[in-house]
Amino acid sequence: MEKLLQLLEELHAKGALDTSAWCTLFAAGNNEAFRAVAAEKARKLTLERFGNGVFVRGIVEFSNYCVNDCLYCGIRRSNKKTERYRLDEKEILECCETGYAYGFRTFVLQSGEDRFWSTEKLCALVKNIKTQFPDCAVTLSVGELPEEDYRQLFAAGADRYLLRHESASSEHFSMIHPANQTLATRLECLSALKEIGFQTGCGFMVGTPGQTVEHLACDMAFISSFKPQMVGIGPFIPHCDTPFADAPCGNGELTLFLLSLCRIMLPDVLLPATTALGTLLPDGRMQGILAGANVVMPNISPMEIRSKYTLYNNKNSADPGTAGVLHSELQKQLSLIGRQIVIGRGDYGDRAC
Ligand code: SAH
Repeated sequence: MEKLLQLLEELHAKGALDTSAWCTLFAAGNNEAFRAVAAEKARKLTLERFGNGVFVRGIVEFSNYCVNDCLYCGIRRSNKKTERYRLDEKEILECCETGYAYGFRTFVLQSGEDRFWSTEKLCALVKNIKTQFPDCAVTLSVGELPEEDYRQLFAAGADRYLLRHESASSEHFSMIHPANQTLATRLECLSALKEIGFQTGCGFMVGTPGQTVEHLACDMAFISSFKPQMVGIGPFIPHCDTPFADAPCGNGELTLFLLSLCRIMLPDVLLPATTALGTLLPDGRMQGILAGANVVMPNISPMEIRSKYTLYNNKNSADPGTAGVLHSELQKQLSLIGRQIVIGRGDYGDRAC
């Protein structure tokens, strides 16, 4: 235990570890007592930085059309069973209006890579949201685009961008993506986003088929060197109409442990307790908060379309209600663990309360 505690100290002090140290830590993730120590340390750091406040973001899943064919994802192009939909600008603005009334001050616009929603159209949408809700932040999560398009979206007023790197090992990246998608392109996109000035989020799934501890070490080393403002880590959950339909779910405890390690490594990072974690584990989001997360992203999409944005099986079980119901449920759950929702944008560097 002594050696492991030293590694946590080293991770905090240096913000980095070498591969063998990462692998030692991951092996110790089987030890419940050690996971609890890491969670405690991560939680303490979170409370020091952010007080008892938790940032919320309303997520609008505005289209499930996608040109990509990621092997893990339920809305991949080859899934002919997915009923495709896209919201129009008016419908998206209505989601923001409802979300605003409940206290959301960040809207996350997420979709498949839908070419109908061109950069020009997205820019117009972002400008309209920022005009109508000047005190709100807009986060985009619409995949890989040319650098010039990212620049236009930033100029239109988008504040943040989420693009998980999915796997920082090119060998593993190509096991979970078709050949036309490469880690090199993904990393170029991430560098461009950060350089342009977006608060940028990377991240990965825990337990995707073929993932080893060495791959996880690679992911953590990448996050350490990239220094993103946000990191999304959630368990892999299979979708029945993908090539990975029969693969097992990622491990929830390991996911929580990785959240703790991420907080210890990057104390200021915006770290969500993800929907996938909430789907896999009962009370997963609250466990995520207790392990060092400080962000929750409830779904504020129209109820009618939610069942169609199925990245993985049972996705909507984590978010069964309207924006209002989710907000008050969340408030209730957070108060049970001594935490509370912050009404504010929750930018990188903000102290919650
Ligand atoms: N098209 C956008 C949004 C992708 S969906 C983009 O490419 O960034 C958002 C995230 O959901 C993905 O980055 C992926 O990490 C996660 N995801 C997709 N399928 C999943 C699955 N089966 N289990 C868990 N998470 C999944």
